[in-house]
Amino acid sequence: MPATEIQANAYDVAMENFDTAADAIGLDKDTREMIKYPERVLTVSIPVRMDDGHIHHFEGFRVQHNTARGPAKGGIRYHPQVTLDEVKALATWMTWKCAVVNIPFGGGKGGVTCDPKHMSQHELEHMTRRYTSAILPLIGPEQDIPAPDVYTNSQTMAWIMDTYSMTKGYAIPGVVTGKPISLGGSLGRNEATGRGVFNTIECACEHLHIPLQGATIAVQGFGNAGSVTAQLLHQAGAKIVAVSDSTGCVYNSKGLNIPELIHMKALCGHVEGFPESEPILPHELLAMQCDILVPAALENTIQAGNAPAVRARIVAEAANGPLTPAADRILQSKGIFVIPDILCNAGGVTVSYFEWVQDEQHLFWEAQDIYTRLNHVMKTSFHDVLKIHLERKVPMRIAANMLGIGRVAEAVQIRGIYP
Ligand code: NAD
Repeated sequence: MPATEIQANAYDVAMENFDTAADAIGLDKDTREMIKYPERVLTVSIPVRMDDGHIHHFEGFRVQHNTARGPAKGGIRYHPQVTLDEVKALATWMTWKCAVVNIPFGGGKGGVTCDPKHMSQHELEHMTRRYTSAILPLIGPEQDIPAPDVYTNSQTMAWIMDTYSMTKGYAIPGVVTGKPISLGGSLGRNEATGRGVFNTIECACEHLHIPLQGATIAVQGFGNAGSVTAQLLHQAGAKIVAVSDSTGCVYNSKGLNIPELIHMKALCGHVEGFPESEPILPHELLAMQCDILVPAALENTIQAGNAPAVRARIVAEAANGPLTPAADRILQSKGIFVIPDILCNAGGVTVSYFEWVQDEQHLFWEAQDIYTRLNHVMKTSFHDVLKIHLERKVPMRIAANMLGIGRVAEAVQIRGIYP
């Protein structure tokens, strides 16, 4: 049954998208049973001594959705709204995403329900190390490899790597990706998601004959994914007319100065009050008349209620799950071209794969090698999905899911199952 807007949660959305794509490729019932559900789900208790001396209990999760094609791979999110269902959904999407870009990983995800904006570095370090100890039986370079996601970063990865390595007695950089360069991180990983989003936007513009030079863009969410996407689009001559973060939205019809906005966000932690901009409301950004809308924050940003107002020609999903299925259908009926998340933001996991390969080989690549390989993967994947979209006359999201789910199904069928 389709998830209604009222009871929709990210996992319902993931299940509904799975069923739609599985129907479209005519997937048999047995294979569906084997690949639809998470393989492992772990909930952990994380007691942390806070700076004022009291113990605070946090809840954390790690989910491995499918490992038929390789180790589980997926980020760790720190956010007050993290739930087990959200982590299960994000792990499911990681499985299809890794298959869409054809890298030898399965899908995983982790999260801790916490409010990192109100925690000190000391508290965050303690929580991260305790969380790592709790999920230790699941993770490892051959098993499950975490990476950064919302409100986690390279420092978080360094703490996880150190905690894991302490239990083995030697450094094991391959247990996480998105690490600092000095610990075996990869050049280009920090900007990989935004760079991949940019590559898929270039392909979509070419397909739709929209010149990127002078194209108007609105970006919701100005963290890792959103700010790098905005920066690359700005460098390509596009006009970023509106940007938001969790504190506010700024608008300039002539285009915002993105390098300066990035500088201000790094200094002050917000985009609000940026010189030569006027404040607008979040719903005005989403409804902006523009060529490309980039949702780069959290799930369910565009729902049945606000989807009719969207006036962009392309929606590029830098975030995971920013559209509900109902919103998807509305945008489809309006003829808006959606670059689906499992394709659009797959640049991050692709360079994570490059990082893992470099760590395993102890041989590190030049930045230009990374960009060239990433560009090749993103453009090949875009055209693989576009081919299904055009030949089968299905929306891009279904096409991407058909490709990803089809590849995982093939892997599972070839491996067989122990009776
Ligand atoms: P981040 O923590 O670096 O940034 C998140 C941004 O979203 C912040 O600027 C925050 O202020 C903003 N935000 C939060 N709530 C908002 C709201 N209601 N309205 C507007 N802005 C809001 O996180 P990130 O890594 O950039 O991740 C963003 C999205 O991209 C997530 O969905 C994540 O899963 C996805 N993603 C990230 C990566 C990666 O490598 N970082 C890879 C693939 C997908």
